[in-house]
Amino acid sequence: MNKAERTAIEPKREENYSEWYQQVIKAADLAENSEVRGCMVIKPWGFAIWENIKTYLDRMFKETGHQNAYFPIFIPLHYFEKEAEHIEGFAKECAVVTHSRLEADEQGKLKPAGELTEPYIVRPTSETIIGASFARWVNSYRDLPLLINQWANIVRWEMRTRLFLRTTEFLWQEGHTVHETEEDARLETLRMLDVYAKFAEEYLAIPVIKGAKTESEKFPGAVDTYCIEAMMQDKKALQCGTSHFLGQNFARASNIRFQNREGEFQYAWTTSWGVSTRLIGALIMTHSDDNGLVLPPKIAPAHIAIIPIYRNDEEKDKVMTLAHKLSNELRQVNFDGIPILTELDNRDLTSSERNWYWIKKGMPLRIEIGPRDISSNSVMISRRDENPKDKHRIMIEEVVDYCKTTLPEMQKNIFLKAKDFREQNTVKIDSKEEFYRYFTPKNEEEPEIHGGFAHSHWCGNPLCEEKIKEDLKVTIRCIPLESEKEEGKCIYCGQPSSQRVIFAKAY
Ligand SMILES: [Zn+2]
Repeated sequence: MNKAERTAIEPKREENYSEWYQQVIKAADLAENSEVRGCMVIKPWGFAIWENIKTYLDRMFKETGHQNAYFPIFIPLHYFEKEAEHIEGFAKECAVVTHSRLEADEQGKLKPAGELTEPYIVRPTSETIIGASFARWVNSYRDLPLLINQWANIVRWEMRTRLFLRTTEFLWQEGHTVHETEEDARLETLRMLDVYAKFAEEYLAIPVIKGAKTESEKFPGAVDTYCIEAMMQDKKALQCGTSHFLGQNFARASNIRFQNREGEFQYAWTTSWGVSTRLIGALIMTHSDDNGLVLPPKIAPAHIAIIPIYRNDEEKDKVMTLAHKLSNELRQVNFDGIPILTELDNRDLTSSERNWYWIKKGMPLRIEIGPRDISSNSVMISRRDENPKDKHRIMIEEVVDYCKTTLPEMQKNIFLKAKDFREQNTVKIDSKEEFYRYFTPKNEEEPEIHGGFAHSHWCGNPLCEEKIKEDLKVTIRCIPLESEKEEGKCIYCGQPSSQRVIFAKAY
C-alpha cells in the first residue's frame, strides 16, 4: 500500500504498535476503559465476538464429554492456604473481601463495617473452591472421570492493564477434571490443549504452537503446564490458552479421594485449563490493519453489510426492495456450517461514511446497491481482506453463491497470511552473539520492533533462562511438542541440550 494513502487508524502499526492497538479497539467500538481501575466495559460488537468464542468452544467442550457448572465467586482464605505454591503465585494480585456491610458515620459518610471473621478472596482462579465440591462429589472410581467446565469472571489485581490483554476483571472459562489414573489426567490435559489449538486455528484463524512451559513459567501448583503460543504483528508472543496437569497436588489440598478398584482409598489426579477474553486481544493483534479490525468470518458477529444508496423516494423504493430481498436470501444460507448474518445499514450517512464504519469494525463483506447497479442487474461487493478501494461487480443472481464461497476463502486467506508472517519472522539461532543482536531493538524510537521467534537450544538450567530474561526481556515461550530431538549447545552457557525451545518477547 502507498504510504501516502489514507488509512483509518492513526498511528499506523509500524509507527506505534501499542497505540495502534488501542485505536483499533476504539474505531471498531469493541470496549472502553471504565472508571473502575483496570476494568473494561465490553461493548456490543466486542461482546458479540466473545459470545461466538463461547458458543463454538462450549460445543467443543461438550463434544469431548464435559458439562458446565457454576461455583461461588468468593473463596474462603483457608482454602487458598492449602496449596503453598498456588497461594504464592496469586497472593500479590488478590482482591480480598473483609467486610459485609456499610455504615454511615455522623457526617453521613459511608464506611465498611461488619468485619468478617474469615476474609474471602474474589476468585483469581477456582481450583480450590471447585476442589472443595469435588471432594464431596468423588467417592469411588465409578464417579470418574469427572469433567466440569465453568464460564465465569475472574479478578486479578493487575498493576498495569491493557484492554483485553490484561485487565483486573476478565471473562473466561475454566475446565476442572478429576481422573482415576495419572495417564488419564495427562491425556485430558493434552486433549484440551488440542481443542484450544483447533479452535484458535479454525475459528480465530490464529496459527499457534503447542508446547510445554518451563518450570519458571508454569501455573502455580501445577506439575506441568502446556500452552498455545501465537505471534502478534509486532512479532511478540501471546499465550492464547493453557492446560495444566496438576498431578495429585490439588487433590491432596482439597482432599479429593476415591475408593479404587482394589477397594482402597487414594488421591485423585486432576487437571485444569482455561482461555479468556484475552483471545479477543490476540484476534485484534494478529489480523487487524491500518484501517481497523479484520475479523475471520467464522468468528465475526455478522458477515455482510448491505449499504443501499439512493437520492430520492423513487430510487429508495427500488433499492430498498432489492436490499431486503438480498438480505433475506443471504440469511438463509450457511458457510462452513455457520448461518450468514447481514446488517442492512440504511442510516442517514453518506455511502463512504457507512463503508468506513464497517471497514473499521472488520465486517468481512460489504455490498453496495445503487440505482445504477439495479439497472445493470448487479451490485458492488468489497472484501475486508482486500484494499478498501477494490470492488467487485457481481450479477444479482450470483450474489448468494459469491458470498457463500468467498467467506470460507477469506477465512483461509486470513489464517495463511498470519502463518506466513510467523514463518517469515521465525529463525533458528545457534550463536549467542546473533541471539542478542536478534532481540535488540533496531533503533530507540521503535523499541517494540525486534526479531520475532528464535528456535534455539537451551540446557534446561533455569539460571540461563533467568539471565536471558534479565538481559533482553526475552522468555522461553514453550518447549514445542511437535519438534524433533536434536543435539546442540545451550544458547547462553554452551552446555549440551537435546532440543530447541522457542524464545520471544511476550505480552
Ligand atoms: Zn544453559
